[in-house]
Parts: sequence; C-alpha cells; structure tokens
Amino acid sequence: MTRRLGSGSLVIATHNAGKLKEISALLEPHGVKCLSAGSLGLPEPAETGTTFVQNALIKARASAEASGLAALADDSGLSVDALDGRPGVYTADWAERQWFEGDPGRDWYMAMGKVEGMLQERGIDAPRSCAFHCVLALAWPDGEYAVYEGKAPGTLTWPPRGTMGFGYDPVFVPIGREETFAELDPDEKHVISHRADAFAKLVAEQFG
Ligand code: IMP
Repeated sequence: MTRRLGSGSLVIATHNAGKLKEISALLEPHGVKCLSAGSLGLPEPAETGTTFVQNALIKARASAEASGLAALADDSGLSVDALDGRPGVYTADWAERQWFEGDPGRDWYMAMGKVEGMLQERGIDAPRSCAFHCVLALAWPDGEYAVYEGKAPGTLTWPPRGTMGFGYDPVFVPIGREETFAELDPDEKHVISHRADAFAKLVAEQFG
C-alpha cells in the first residue's frame, strides 16, 4: 500500500513561484503546508534522466534528502508519436536559443517550428498524434516514493493558434476539441490537462 502524506509540511521541489502557487492551492485544502525548495535554499539537481518519471524522482528525492521532509516534484513535456516520443524530456530544451549571448531565453515559436519541420520531413501521411505528459513524484527522506502519471492526448496543428497558455499550447489540439490549448479558456484547459490528470490521481490516492 502506498504511503500517505497526512497533514504536515511538504516541500514543493520547484524554484518557480507560479508552480508553487498552483500546487499549494491544490494541496493546502487537504491540510498540507507547502514550502518551496527555493525558499528553503535547497539545491536544484541536474535533470539527467531520460524519462519524465526519472526526472521527477531526481528532483523530489534531492529535496527530500536535503530537507528531511516529504517532497513533491513534477516533470512534464510533449511527446510526438511520429518522432518516437520526442521532444519528451527535452521539451523545454528545444526552445533554448543557444546562440543568444547572456540569458539564453526561450523561443517557443522556434521550438514549435522545429517539431513541425521534423513532422513534415516524415511526409504528409505522418500521424500528428501526440500527448502532453505530467509526472508527479512524491519522495520521503527514508527513500520511499510514489509516482502519479497524467496525460492529455491530442494532435498537432500548424500554424500556431491562440494567445493564452504557454509553451507548446498554440499547436496542441486536445482530443475531442477543435481549439488549441492556447485558444481555450484557462479554466477549461485546467480541467482536461495532463497536470489535472496527474493531480487527480495523487489526490485520490493520498487524500481519498
Ligand atoms: P518542466 O516540467 O517545467 O520541465 O517543463 C517542461 C516543458 O514542457 C515546459 O517548458 C513547456 O514547454 C512544456 N509544457 C509542459 N506543460 C505544458 C502545457 O500545459 N502547455 C504547453 N507546454 C507545456
């Protein structure tokens, strides 16, 4: 049986204030007090895994070991079937402008164009199916852990459409809809997203 968090403090293994706010809002109603790895001065480990599960576990374990508290980390990205699952764990890296001096910054239009270019190289018959994935990993300082995997299946469209959301949202059309994630109202996206799926599984098992 999977270990449960109960009430108490949980480190959210992120240095991103937006993620901390979103995750805290989901977990604090269940009596969990969320602390960020950033505010505790915990180190950010290198994401050296080759799967979403490995990277989420690397981050959760590093925070649990350094803080002595249970920790939660997420890892997410886009996997395109015709590209053998790429960009996968490298989803954010494909947007890196490596030639740019100073802060490398991220260029999502370039990243979406790279995915589209590779798909077009595979011909007009290449399937455009893909999925956003989100893995949540919970780790305890004694080494115990639990993993929850969420998925939002969809297809890729071109050119990009919509101005809401972030990352690859303008080219992602979720199954059952005609709009891209960037055209959907954020409240609608949050119900069907890969993150919602993973959190529903975590909440059901941890607090159900
Ligand atoms: P990470 O989980 O913070 O490492 O982010 C992985 C990358 O996946 C992000 O930088 C985004 O490019 C992409 N991604 C994850 N979730 C979404 C989403 O809901 N919409 C669009 N892009 C996403």
